[in-house]
Amino acid sequence: MKELDFLIIGQGLAGSLLAWTLHRQGFSVNIAHDPDYAGASRVAGGMINPITGLRLALADNTSRQLAAANSLYQQIADFFSTTVFYPRKIARLFKNDQEQDWYRKRASQPRYREYLGEPFSPATQTIPLSHELGGFYIRKGGYLDTCKCLDLLLQYFDNNNMTVSSAVKYNQLQVNADSIQWQGLQARQAIFCDGARMLNNPWFDWLPMQALHGDILTLRGPAIHDDTILNFGNWLLPLQGNTYRYGATIHVDHADPAPVPAGRKQLLAELNLRTSGKPFTCLSHHAGVRPATRDRMPFIGKHPKYDPLFIFNGFGSKGSLTIPSYLKQFTRLLCQQKPVDAECDISRYLEACHFD
Ligand SMILES: Cc1cc2nc3c(=O)[nH]c(=O)nc-3n(C[C@H](O)[C@H](O)[C@H](O)COP(=O)(O)OP(=O)(O)OC[C@H]3O[C@@H](n4cnc5c(N)ncnc54)[C@H](O)[C@@H]3O)c2cc1C
Repeated sequence: MKELDFLIIGQGLAGSLLAWTLHRQGFSVNIAHDPDYAGASRVAGGMINPITGLRLALADNTSRQLAAANSLYQQIADFFSTTVFYPRKIARLFKNDQEQDWYRKRASQPRYREYLGEPFSPATQTIPLSHELGGFYIRKGGYLDTCKCLDLLLQYFDNNNMTVSSAVKYNQLQVNADSIQWQGLQARQAIFCDGARMLNNPWFDWLPMQALHGDILTLRGPAIHDDTILNFGNWLLPLQGNTYRYGATIHVDHADPAPVPAGRKQLLAELNLRTSGKPFTCLSHHAGVRPATRDRMPFIGKHPKYDPLFIFNGFGSKGSLTIPSYLKQFTRLLCQQKPVDAECDISRYLEACHFD
């Protein structure tokens, strides 16, 4: 029997960054990776955008989250001598007068100064999409190449005999008082990072996950002036060689990860309204299910009845930004028994738990 500190279930962004961090801290870790289910991280745009929503809101913890994300992605990039996070300017195009009003209001608030760039007018030539109301730039954004990051980490885990290439069937996990056993492994703790599959996880299905299906396209299009990300409700992310990631739809309570043809149609129609007939060709269409939560806070913590079981999940639409900072809290819980913030602790849902 192979003895471990941690078995991590799920090789998405949450599970991979957690396995990497615990391994670097000197713990013995294995990560179960289902080769037949890609998960949300492998289709995600990976965008990090500090200013979001109709009210152009900046959350209180954004600067802390950005610092943690930049530091962790830089650590990974340095280790593998490559780049995984690409800082980019974001041009947000105004959709209506209210957004213009919010921009003026936010621009007068000191804590927004770091993130809000200058406005641009409808006459600005460098914006390749129609923008009749103008817009403004957002600083400190960018995108994580999630597939590249996950591939680097998976290769590293493989080389260090840390992967089990198999889905964990929930009913095959044997949970003892102070350990778990599964497929010849014994671990002190098992951590579920199973994304939207948590909906079928009998240990944690009492948590109110909200499946948010999303379609995303890769396009080929005309050359544009630079690598600024364009955000007009949807976002258009320039890659290399006149290709673009473009997305994404949101279908609430839709947990099937298969691409939806109507989603592709909707995305292309919305782009068409902004491109005045410029030819964009769809090269591929992917989809995934964001593991979101009803209160928009992640699910982090220890199972209320089974001490060896933990969960690190529920990162919704913003995993690239938020996972690294929650990871810091979570590893302190695992290794030093320090509680995580109440707002993300799963104990906020204890009354829904069906285990006595
Ligand atoms: C279309 C789309 C666009 C997105 N765009 C962005 C974006 O621009 N920026 C951003 O920050 N976020 C974006 N997201 C959200 C982002 O994908 C998530 O926040 C993040 O990837 C969640 O990571 P995760 O590891 O928790 O879940 P997942 O990536 O879903 O990973 C779960 C993993 O667990 C594995 N698994 C599940 N059950 C088992 C089991 N029983 N045994 C073994 N393995 C198992 C799965 O195979 C999968 O690999 C987008 C999502 C979608 C769908």
